Order: sequence, then C-alpha cells, then structure tokens
Amino acid sequence: MTEPKKPIKKPRGRACLLEGKCIACGARCQSACPVNAVEMTEANEPIIDTGTCIGCAKCVKVCPAQAIEMFFTPEEQKILANLAAVGGAASEEVDEEAVALAKALAAYRGVWVFVEQTAGEAARVSWELLGKGRELAGALGTELAAVIIGENVAHLCHEAFSYGADTAYLVDDPVYRHYRTEAYLKAVCHLVERHKPEVILMGATGLGRDLAGAVATVLKTGLTADCTGLAIDDKRNLMQTRPAFGGNIMATIMCDRFRPQMATVRPHVMAMPECQPGRAGKVVRESCPVREEDILVKVLEVIGDRSGKEGIDIAGAEFIVSGGRGLMAKENFAMLQELADELGGVVGASRSAVDAGWMPAERQVGQTGKTVRPKVYIACGISGAIQHLVGMQDSDTIIAINRDREAPIFEVATYGIVGDLFQIVPAITRRLRDLKAGQQKKVA
Ligand SMILES: Cc1cc2nc3c(=O)[nH]c(=O)nc-3n(C[C@H](O)[C@H](O)[C@H](O)COP(=O)(O)OP(=O)(O)OC[C@H]3O[C@@H](n4cnc5c(N)ncnc54)[C@H](O)[C@@H]3O)c2cc1C
Repeated sequence: MTEPKKPIKKPRGRACLLEGKCIACGARCQSACPVNAVEMTEANEPIIDTGTCIGCAKCVKVCPAQAIEMFFTPEEQKILANLAAVGGAASEEVDEEAVALAKALAAYRGVWVFVEQTAGEAARVSWELLGKGRELAGALGTELAAVIIGENVAHLCHEAFSYGADTAYLVDDPVYRHYRTEAYLKAVCHLVERHKPEVILMGATGLGRDLAGAVATVLKTGLTADCTGLAIDDKRNLMQTRPAFGGNIMATIMCDRFRPQMATVRPHVMAMPECQPGRAGKVVRESCPVREEDILVKVLEVIGDRSGKEGIDIAGAEFIVSGGRGLMAKENFAMLQELADELGGVVGASRSAVDAGWMPAERQVGQTGKTVRPKVYIACGISGAIQHLVGMQDSDTIIAINRDREAPIFEVATYGIVGDLFQIVPAITRRLRDLKAGQQKKVA
C-alpha cells in the first residue's frame, strides 16, 4: 500500500530585521513572538532566528518602526513558483484530501438511539427518538439500532424493536446497575469503536446531556444539544436545527468532517412512534471491559424526589391551559385551574408569569422551561415570543386567547380568540360544565 501523498503547505515566509530601522522600542517584537524566535541584543535590537520562526508575522505587526518584514527562503520561493505554475496539481491535492475524508466518513454507518432507563424502565424520550431515528435511517438507507445499557435490561430490546429499532446493542452487567458517567461513557465509546455508527441520538435529559457531552469529548466529534429538528442532507450529513442567540434565530448545525454525528433532543419534541408489539429485531450482546474497581464513583443509596412539590409533569399532559403576563396576578391562575380541571389537564405558564412568582418554575413552557406536545394547548394572555413558541408549537391544537389581534401567538394558533381572557376563560369553563351536565342528564 502506498502512503497517502501529504498536501504541500504553502510557505508562510520568515521574519527579518531591516538594517538601521530598529528604534529599540522595548522588545515588542520579542513579546509578540509565540515561539521565542526573537532574542534581544544589549542595544535592545532583535536577532530573529529564522530556523525557529514560523512566519506568523506577529512581530511585523507590532513593530512601530516597520523595521521587520517577511521574506521567503530560496526553497520557499521555489515551492511558491511551482504551486503558481501547476495550479492543477494543487487542486489534485485538495481532491485527494476530500477523497481521504470521504473514505473516513464512509466507515461509519447506522443510526443509533441511546435508550435511557432507570431500574429497567425506559424513558419515553428514547422511543420518541426511535421514531425520528427511523426516518433518518430511511433517508440514509441504513439500519436503526437501539443501545441498551444496564442491569437486567434485556426486555428493553423487544420494546425497542416495537418502536422501530432493527438491532439492539445490549450491554447487561451489574456494573451498569446505576447510571455513572464513567461506566456508561466507556461502554458507549467501546460500542462506537467496534460498530462505527453514523448518527447517535440521546434524550436531552439530565442523564442524556451528561453522557452525550462526555462521549462526544472522548470521540472528538461534534454534538448539538436540544435539537428541535433533525434531517439528512444530500451528503449524508445530519442537519441539526435548534434555537440560537436566545431563541431569536433557528440555526441548522452540521458536523461534516467528523463521525459519529451526535445530537440530543428534549422529551416531547419528537412525536411518539406507533408501537408495533411483536415486531422482531436482532439482539447483539456485547461485553465491555469495565470493572467495578475501575469506577471511582460509587452509588451508596438512591433517594427519590422528596421535594414535596405537586409532582405535576406538564410535559406529559394532554391538555394544558397556560397563562402569561396577561393574567395580571397570581390569584387569577385559579381561573385557569378551573378550566384545566374541566378538561382533565394541567396549568402551565410563560416565563413572565414564572418570573413574577405567579407559578412555579416547573410549570414554565418554552426554551428554558419544558417542551410540551399536548392534544390541546390553550394560551391565555401570552404574546407568543419565540422562546415560548419553541416549547409548545408542536401541540396538536393550539387555542390562543389574547386581546391584541397582532400578537404573534396567533401565527401558530389553530383557533384564535381576540378578547379579554377574564371574560372568555370563565365562559369556556361554564360552557364545558353545561355540556357535561347535559350529557349526564341524557345518560340518566
Ligand atoms: C434566553 C431566553 C429564554 C427564554 N425562555 C423562555 C421560556 O422558556 N418560556 C417563555 O415563556 N418565555 C421565555 N423567555 C421570555 C420571552 O422572550 C417572553 O418575554 C415571554 O414569553 C413573554 O411572556 P408573556 O407572553 O406572558 O408576556 P407578554 O409578552 O408581556 O405578553 C402578555 C400578553 O398578554 C396579553 N394580554 C394582556 N391582558 C390581557 C387580557 N386581559 N386578555 C387577553 N390578553 C391579554 C397581551 O396582549 C400580551 O400579548 C425567554 C427569554 C430569553 C431571552
């Protein structure tokens, strides 16, 4: 096998002192040199070691007397002349580089979803990601695999197949009983090195964020956190869309020179795929060289959440009645609660309402709150800032109540009601009660 031809570097030149021009300014050139190529004489004039000089030209830029300039050695001049004469050869080298990159990237195939589990129960986001992963794998013409790590978690392979996985890489060992970054990191990296996936998706949960960052760092690849959209371009790159600059723009990020391409996605951002019980797939059992004694962190006890909060998960709710600054006061949220109770739903809030102390932070919907995808989202007195929209715009039906007909929330609303929420919300609640009462009468 022949060694791949190294591309010829364009010479950068070397610095040299022009005779009689130095004004002994105080060794600025010496301080600027990043490679210590400048020595000062007793007369405070520089001596530049051209063998050490890397041609960065920093000394040239700082010299107040234009006493230093760049020059090219005869060898460098020859290279420059050759490059200029054979423009075709230079581009051939670039092509060679492109071919080598394409070859390196082609070694990676397959879309993986990391299945997050606690005590053998999978996080719903993992199945949501399998739904999106199926789409990506289809676009890439490759297989979709689930990565399952834990203790006694083999049953999750079949669950993964029912949500669309073709293969499940299973690492089942007591050392993975509780999540610990080091152990899981080693397991995932071991699998990646063996099977080389093209794409890895993880939930943007506490665990997923921790693991994805660690894995991407070790594998020296790119990671886009909190993606709201994922697609494949015509060069097999994963187009990872997420809000950027405080949510004012949507950025599409690509990792076109490194593999695997890694992304995290928050729960409820992607649609839950249909479950196909009994769907079959291939289980690949893997053992990783991770020993308990090599893991520094020990889990002594797992203490459940005893925060005493109501424990309402707005992210999983099917009906959400959300209030914003238009509610004017904390006590007015009782009116939203009444409507939510009639619907069997929960109350959410915009950040303004949370910042005002009207609702607890775990009820916040949006970029810095929860992403929700209910059947019905009723936005009351919420203007519809982009940071709020990114957290709820994928709801099946959006009903917006706002007295400002120009409010941006109406742009995403399925139904918009322009008016005073203090009249409209109680009226809807009353109507629902009447309807229910009417139905009960009919049944009686
Ligand atoms: C980095 C960053 C992250 C952010 N993250 C989030 C986030 O996660 N979630 C979030 O929500 N925001 C977030 N924000 C804040 C966001 O930009 C907006 O400031 C916020 O969403 C506005 O909340 P609001 O719609 O309740 O208030 P406003 O924008 O003040 O809107 C109040 C609305 O109520 C209407 N109204 C008033 N009275 C009535 C009435 N009687 N009847 C009907 N309508 C009425 C008004 O017409 C108005 O449209 C973030 C901002 C930044 C910079």
